[in-house]
Amino acid sequence: MPRFKQTAEILKLMGSKEAIRNVGIIAHIDHGKTTMTDSLLVEAGLLSPQVAGSARVLDYLEEEQRRGITIKTANISLLHETGGHPYLINLVDTPGHVDFTGKVTRALRAIDGAVVVVDAVEEVMAQTVTVTRQALEERVKPVLFINKLDRLIEEMKLAPVEIQSKLTRIIADFNNLIENYAEPEFRKKWKVDPEQESVVFGSALHKWGFTLKTAGEKGIKFGDRDIMEAYGKGKHRALSRLIPLAAAILDMVVKNLPSPIESQKYRVPKIWKGDTRSEIGQAMLNCDDEGPTVMCVTMAQTVPGTGLVATGRLFSGSIREGDQIHLVEADKEYRVQQVSMYMGAFREAVNKISAGNIAGLSALGLARAGHTLVDYKHKETMVPFERVKYVAEPVMTVSIEPKKPNDLPKVMEAMDRISIEDPNLLTTIDKETGQYLISGIGELHLEIAMNFLRQYIDDVELTASSPIASYRETVSRQGRTVMAKSPNKRNKFWIEVEPLEDAFWEMIEKSRFSEQMMEEQPADLQWKEAGNVWAVDKNRNVLVDLAEDTQYLQDAKTNIITGFHWACRTGALCEEPLRGIKVKLMKTQVDPDPCLRETTQITRGVSRAILGSCLTAKPILLEPIYKIEVSVQAQWFGTCANIISRRRGKILTTEQKGFLTIITGYIPVAETFGLSAKMRSATSGYAFWQFAFDHWNKIPENLASEVIRKLRERRGLPEEIPTPQMFVDEA
Ligand code: GDP
Repeated sequence: MPRFKQTAEILKLMGSKEAIRNVGIIAHIDHGKTTMTDSLLVEAGLLSPQVAGSARVLDYLEEEQRRGITIKTANISLLHETGGHPYLINLVDTPGHVDFTGKVTRALRAIDGAVVVVDAVEEVMAQTVTVTRQALEERVKPVLFINKLDRLIEEMKLAPVEIQSKLTRIIADFNNLIENYAEPEFRKKWKVDPEQESVVFGSALHKWGFTLKTAGEKGIKFGDRDIMEAYGKGKHRALSRLIPLAAAILDMVVKNLPSPIESQKYRVPKIWKGDTRSEIGQAMLNCDDEGPTVMCVTMAQTVPGTGLVATGRLFSGSIREGDQIHLVEADKEYRVQQVSMYMGAFREAVNKISAGNIAGLSALGLARAGHTLVDYKHKETMVPFERVKYVAEPVMTVSIEPKKPNDLPKVMEAMDRISIEDPNLLTTIDKETGQYLISGIGELHLEIAMNFLRQYIDDVELTASSPIASYRETVSRQGRTVMAKSPNKRNKFWIEVEPLEDAFWEMIEKSRFSEQMMEEQPADLQWKEAGNVWAVDKNRNVLVDLAEDTQYLQDAKTNIITGFHWACRTGALCEEPLRGIKVKLMKTQVDPDPCLRETTQITRGVSRAILGSCLTAKPILLEPIYKIEVSVQAQWFGTCANIISRRRGKILTTEQKGFLTIITGYIPVAETFGLSAKMRSATSGYAFWQFAFDHWNKIPENLASEVIRKLRERRGLPEEIPTPQMFVDEA
């Protein structure tokens, strides 16, 4: 079969649900995911064999090519024939660097199975754990590819028995992840097993790989004598013909990973909390082409000249150009201008895409990753998909400024664009102070964001500060009940704040009191206060109404909530966002005249009262803490441990994996600037490390006042921290 231009064949297969596999490739950075993907593309005829390993087709952005890492998630559809049947593999590539875990999380919605790539030398690493855990939590089934076996032979010169015990350990560690993180019903049946062909062993670089079955068929013994011999004689190139990697991986995918018709039965109840007995519920469970169109958006991209392209997984029905669909979260209808499928860097327009597949739709202006699209006829009854939960938070910030003030509108537009494309970036525009801030997960994430920004407005000259850690403000004890009036003095709000208990927060989270439902009363809460929760802020702040109900209070509710969100964005200590605070509305006096209780009057009164009470509740500053994982040869262990400790870091564990020592620990984000250069030079480049956001911690008292002073200075605030009296009024 000619392998180029397979679109017609692919379109035909889209209707045969049993023949579809939606698959992601996930891994710790540098474990070989991109190299392996290239081999698959050669097999599919989408890449010439000569350039595989260097062309990196899925790394299609210039930025990715330049740096050799995957940043944006790319999709590709390819055909694979096995056992005399054709299969359609929709492949979603995902980034390996921790700064981009948000993209992995979003991609997981689209897929049902994942090939987890593990480097045989480094074995299971932090990011392997994170991404596999995320996959299991979304009921995405994993299989294993143990890569870089050539290094065990050529570099480490291990004997067959040592290779065998290393591979056994990797499989055991991986199955341990499944034991720990899979739900009980999948724990047993999802464990990987070489006998079941759910493990491929190989070398992506040299393009060979095998399962126990293919090894048996080709007469290659496990224990690798033949393979070692091939390396010994410099004949390893022949292995890529004898046991080609792509065939081994794709066979494993077809055999062990589920088709949408199989997977949607158990995945839909996990990611969608509507009634599965309803028409839509049934259609989604059965991946029914004839059912109402339902799609979960996993990626939103602004394409100049086209508008916003929303890519996602169709769970039911089919979609054609001209279809009228409803975007649930924005409560907006769109007519689809174009339907396309993905071929790496390119989208190819097609007539129709049906359930169980991945589609690109243009132009849906307000669609964002995680959103729900439904046939407009069902807009009244559609329940949106569960919110995508992110493990990382934007804890590092740069402030930017155009050299010419006239360019501000362009800068704002570009900031909007990067935050649409990457929901893990937080952009803040404060027109009053002239601050334009971009917060991201780490230095690399911010650097890439800045490059995109510059690319989108290449005619604008920008200055950018170096990144600094982001902080949060919280309270350490119960505050006083304080009263603040609206600017016109006609409305009064009595508010008291206190630290938010973890149990209270967990219960609210469990009640699925999600962002979309913020203004609704949660029905399934048991605590008295929880039953009165009016609003939840993403930084774990909660507004609880304990005031006597009056008619005017209900009228003012929306504005009171807006005032709460305002206060949450900028605390009183140094205008960092609030975190972990329970705000209790104790009493209100609202003017009967609607003109005298309009939005700004109420929001300002409420936010002043909140900040005033915070200042009576021993406010403190929280700093973000990264988990750090360093892998280094034993001789450098002391040096690395020293560098971490000297930067207020704490070593948690050290573990020996072959000749590598793996150090894990905590380190404040603020102490990581310049750490990479230091680590590299102190270990002559031998150490490899990764940071990932872990938690917030109280900043040590001896450092707090200096950090607060600096933050206030950066923001052009007076040096003195405000007193409660500056926010609070006399009754
Ligand atoms: P990714 O970050 O997981 O996408 O990893 P890449 O595919 O970019 O690979 C990272 C590095 O490992 C590159 O230098 C590859 O050439 C190298 N690499 C990938 N697979 C193998 C392999 O099987 N053997 C060896 N020796 N190197 C490999």
